[in-house]
Order: sequence, then C-alpha cells, then structure tokens
Amino acid sequence: MSSAALSGPRILFRQIREVMAGEGDPERRLQKIVQLIASNMIAEVCSCYLMRAGDLLELFATQGLKQEAVHNTRLRVGEGLVGDIAAHARPLNLSDAQSHPQFAYRPETGEEIYHSLLGVPIKRGGRVIGVLVVQNQTMRVYTEEESEALQTIAMVVAELISSEEMIAATELLDTAGNATKPHRLTGRVLAEGLGIGTAILHEPHIVVRKTIAENIAEEIERLNSAVARLQDSIEDMLSVSDEAFTDESRDIFEAYKMFAHDKSWLKKMTTAVDSGLTAEAAIKRVQDDTRNRMSQITDPYIRERLSDLDDLANRLFLHLDGNIEIDRQHLDQDTVVIARNMGAAELLDYDRVRLKAVVLVEGTRSSHVAIVARALGIPVLGQCAEISKSVEEGDLVLVDGENGQAFLRPSDDVIQTFERSMRHRAERQAKYAALRNKKAVTLDKQPVQLNMNAGLLIDLDNFQDAGADGIGLFRTELQFMVRSQMPKVDEQTELYTKVLDKAKGRPVIFRTLDVGGDKALPYLEMKEEENPALGWRAIRIGLDRPALLRSQLRAMVRAAAGRNLTVMFPMIAEVSEFLEAKAILMREIERESNRTGIKPEAVAVGTMIEVPAIVWQLPQLLKVVDFVSVGSNDLMQFFFAVDRGNSRVTDRYEMLSSGFMSVLRFVAQECNKANVPVSICGDVAGRPLEAMALLGLGYRNLSMSIEGLGPVKEMVRSADTAKIADFVNKLCNMREPTVREQLRAFAKDHSVII
Ligand code: PEP
Ligand code: MG
Repeated sequence: MSSAALSGPRILFRQIREVMAGEGDPERRLQKIVQLIASNMIAEVCSCYLMRAGDLLELFATQGLKQEAVHNTRLRVGEGLVGDIAAHARPLNLSDAQSHPQFAYRPETGEEIYHSLLGVPIKRGGRVIGVLVVQNQTMRVYTEEESEALQTIAMVVAELISSEEMIAATELLDTAGNATKPHRLTGRVLAEGLGIGTAILHEPHIVVRKTIAENIAEEIERLNSAVARLQDSIEDMLSVSDEAFTDESRDIFEAYKMFAHDKSWLKKMTTAVDSGLTAEAAIKRVQDDTRNRMSQITDPYIRERLSDLDDLANRLFLHLDGNIEIDRQHLDQDTVVIARNMGAAELLDYDRVRLKAVVLVEGTRSSHVAIVARALGIPVLGQCAEISKSVEEGDLVLVDGENGQAFLRPSDDVIQTFERSMRHRAERQAKYAALRNKKAVTLDKQPVQLNMNAGLLIDLDNFQDAGADGIGLFRTELQFMVRSQMPKVDEQTELYTKVLDKAKGRPVIFRTLDVGGDKALPYLEMKEEENPALGWRAIRIGLDRPALLRSQLRAMVRAAAGRNLTVMFPMIAEVSEFLEAKAILMREIERESNRTGIKPEAVAVGTMIEVPAIVWQLPQLLKVVDFVSVGSNDLMQFFFAVDRGNSRVTDRYEMLSSGFMSVLRFVAQECNKANVPVSICGDVAGRPLEAMALLGLGYRNLSMSIEGLGPVKEMVRSADTAKIADFVNKLCNMREPTVREQLRAFAKDHSVII
C-alpha cells in the first residue's frame, strides 16, 4: 500500500471519527459515512449492506442508489455480487459488473447506469457482518491501493455497526439462536481416530475494538514493542532444549523466526498504522490481506507459508501491550481445536494429553498438520466448511475420524453411542498392544514381516512401541517439506543418523526424495505442470539434478558408517534409470571411503515398483536390484489412469479387482522366481482384508502406517496362506471389478480376523 494511497484514508478516518463520535441516530450516521467514502474515493455510489437474521444482506445506507431501495433491497448470501462477496469473504473488483455471471439486477436501486464495482466484506470477529460497495458509471478498473483502502475503511465501519446503540436501533446480528442446537457436520478424514472435547477456536476471534488511531506515534510504538516481544518469544522457544521439542517443530519455528523478521510484513503493518489505524487494526488489516491471498493460491507450499504468516499475526496480537500468549501447552480440559487451517508447529504447541481432536475448515491429507497429527495419533477432520459458522467456543464436540463427521452440542443419545464406539476402539487397541511382542506367523507357519512406514522423527518415537520389524519405507521428503530451506548435507546426515539410532539395529529402508507433483519444495524451481503426477517428480528430478540426489545419498552414506545402509529409489520406469541412480550411490560410497576410510557395513539398493512400465521389465530389473517394494498407491494410479488425489475418481477402481490382483501376483511370482525380496508399502498393506489377499498373492513382507500394524498382525495370526492362495487364484481368473465381498465371505468362513 503506497503512502500516497493512504493519505486519503487518513483524512477520511478523521472525518469518520467525528461522525462516529457525534450524536444522533446511528443509521443517519452510517448514511453520512457512505457519503464521505463516496466523495473521498471519487465514486458515484457508495452503499452499505448489513447482515440480517437468516443470512440476508439488507441495503442500509447508500449514496448514489435510489433512497427507496434502502431497507427494501435484500440479497441472500451467495446471491448477486454483494452476496458473492459475503459468501467468500473476499473483495471483488470489476470494471463491468453487469457482465459478471453473478450479477443480480434489482430495479428499485436504479443501478443499471453503473458499470464498475469494487466491493469488500465488512468483518467482525471472523464473521462477515456486511458488505461495502463503491460503483462508478465508467468502466474503470479500481487500483490495488483503492481496494486495500476500502478494506481498511470497512474495518472502521465494522466498529460503528457493532456498537451497542446500532445493534439496539436496528436489531442487527440476530442469528436466530442457531448456536444452541445440536448439529452434525461432515468433512474429510485427514487423521483417523475418535475424539471428544470442548471446542476452542485456534484463531481466537480477534475483535478490534478501536480502529482509528488517536495518536499515530504511540500506535507505532505499540506495534514495534509487540513485534520485539514476538521476536524474543520465538528466540526463547528456539533456545529450549526440551525433549518434547522435536526436530520437526524446531524447523518450523526457524521458519517463523524468518517471517517475524520479514521486512515487507513489518513494513505493511507500519504503513497501515501510518494511514491512521491503531496497531491492532493494522495487524488485522495485513492479516486479512494474507487470508485473501491464501484463498486464491493452490500451491500447497505457498499456502503453508501463508498460513504460518497468519499464525504469526495471531501471536502478534497477543503480544500487544504485553498481553502474553494463551497457554496452549496446559489445557485444563479435554479439547477439540477448531481452525480454518493450521501449521504443524501450531499443532505441536498444544498440550498433547488434552488435545483430543482437530477440525479444520480447509486442510488436505498431505498437509503438514495432517502428517504430524497422524504421527501423534490425533484425529483430524478437514474440509469442514460449515464448522466456522456453527461452532462457539465452549461447545461440546465429538469428532468421528472414522466416518468423516463431527457432532456439535450433541444430544445425550449421540454422546452415549459415541462413547461406546470409543470404548470399542480402545479395547481393540489394547488387544493389539498385547500382540506387540507376538510373532506375525500364519496358521500354516509362514512368517510375515510387518514393517512401518515413517517419515518424521516423531514416527520413530512411536516405532519402539509399535511392534514392527523395521521401517519398510522412510519417506525422506517429509523432512524436506517442513523446512523453509534445503537442508545441508550435515543436517541431513544428523537426521539420518538419528533415524538409524532410534531404529536400534532394525532395518530401515530410506527412500530418496519423492518430491514434485503435489509435494512442492520452495528451493526447487518447479514449473507449473498440466499433469504433475506424470511430470517432473521423484527420481526424474534426482537424475536431472544429480547434485541434489548426490547430497542426499552422501548424507545417508555418512549416517550409516559401520552400519547397514538400505536405499530405495522412487518412480523408476526404466532399468537404465535404476542403474544410473545406483551408480551415483556407489560413487558416493567410494568417495566417502577414500576420504575417511569409513563405509557402511553392507549396502542394499532397491526400487519401488510404481510405474507399470517397470513391471514389464522385471526379469531384467531383478538381475540388478537387491530388493523391490510395490508402491501400490502410485501403481494403481497409473494402472487405472486415476488421479489418486481426486476423490471423484479414486473410489472407482479397486485393488481387490481381478485385474489389479493379477498384476500384483505377477510381480510377487517373478520376484520369488528370481529370489529377490519383495514387499509392498502402499496404503493397502495396512488394511486387513487387502493384506489377507496380499498373503494369497505371495507377499510375505508388508509395510504400513502405524495404525495398520495391530489389525494386520491379528489377521496374519488367524490366516492360512495356502487356503487363501487357492481362493485368490480363482478370483484372479475371474473378470470382476471387485471381489471384496467374496474375500469377506472367505474370511468369515475361515475365521480370519479382518
Ligand atoms: C506408493 O506410491 O504406494 C508409495 C508408498 O509412495 P507414496 O505414497 O509416498 O507416493
Ligand atoms: Mg509413490
């Protein structure tokens, strides 16, 4: 925001303050304010719509539209351009509003002569309470500065509208008492589990009570002190050498530190105070701006960073005037946190014993918060847009992270049923814990290796208790994704050393970086691609940018000094790619050994089977690899040509189909013939019914997320592989899109616990 653009608001704010401080009917004062805005912004129209009960936006004051429209023109949220601004809580800037598909013409307003339109939401405590619009006859384009200035003005208007006298005079903001009724909401499961607790809002609905500064120098001083306190508090957090402070959260706080010193962020806030706002209004103004940007960006990495910035603004509020942080480390009751979105560091801020679940308005399964929550066993429901409208702080919330639903203010029956489900789950879990030290051997005495998939150091902490034989897949990219800068070789070495230390001699398969597609890294220049899943990703990046692959392999070699090193490459489509990648590894081992005389005790090199092309080169591939692991998530994606991230099509095809099972059987047979160890590490390995079929198809090594280990071990111990193989072979020869029911019936008839 340039200061030139804000000299206007500064004068305007003074005039608005005089009107607000004046006497008389609040509606008359609102009318005066729209006149002031119109003349200040050189607009022919300025109108203010306010939210009525039932999500209706009513025209309350206008300069330029016909006066008889006041209190008569009403639009539903989502209806017309004004309704659209309220529904999305974001500005709209149009040079020809009438040609916009959402335009809804209201003859009583006489607005047909106005073409350009700039509208912004009026928000209070995170909710939209109205819309402020300016219009001009000419088809003009409002500048970015004008849009920002109008958003700032909307904050000031929000203060007037929320005043007690305004509410008393107009019965505004009557929400018809919705907030007391029980309510069921649906969302997407981002982390499995069941949780019950009292709602707290992660983004405390910060209500700015005073928008216009009385003394700008004082406000600058308040802002600067708050920034200094924020910076100190982050330093303090980073200096704690606490066990609970994991390496992942340290990385994330390092990123916060960078943002807290970010000049452009600080400058934007100072400029907003200069324009006449109080320190809190300036923080809010810049935060709203970040949120607007966030709603338009799809790149997952940039979204995560903007969400960090958003969190930082929340923290900054709490430091104003020395008000210190809400204590999230010590919650005094079981809690469900409600957030629009959240960074992984913020999740780690909460008391882990009392935090029972999280509900997000946004969020995806691959977001950092979901990854960390799964590692911590905290259920998360995401993409639950309705939650922010329906929940109040203090409400009881049940989160069903098995079926993708949440219950707000539930009735007693619902609570009882839910508690019953929780007891069943706890019993199941206790049963699995008892199996921890028992062997995974089938009834016909076939040993089965059960491994865990991991990617964070937190996973390794759980590994001790999980009863897994080893780490069948260590997704190294997760470490890269939670950082703001490319980790240096030494940092990577330190990490891989910790992983091997924590594994205490049990085997660990390190997979080299599998980035690209939806896993973006900021320090890797990535062009936008039409089909990222088929694009420049995984080993393709590694071979095109060998320095990156080399530095990662070097770190692994150093970490494994005197120990076993097992490396696996992702997305290999040609034998030649594997040989090229393996040669890079071998060169690194030799280089290290020449330099220091130290090398791994033994080295095994393998590849993922994820691309159908490599399945047809198995006889050649198996001569050169030490092992393979089937990545069924990607193999299915490419086999069926179905985007694994697109919920519209992912459920259309199935692993338990005659076709895909035949492919899996072929891979296992070829590997067994060639005497090359084969495992499977896609999601299917962790589901008991699918895992039972995999035993029948010839797999004896399954790697899965932690929650699959108990149920799959129980299944293995109740299964007879010879009988399953007979049955599964018959199913492979059929032509069924799904044989799920047949397998269920088999399990029931043969008492296999699935
Ligand atoms: C797979 O593709 O099955 C796999 C295990 O890798 P990721 O899910 O990390 O792509
Ligand atoms: Mg994969």
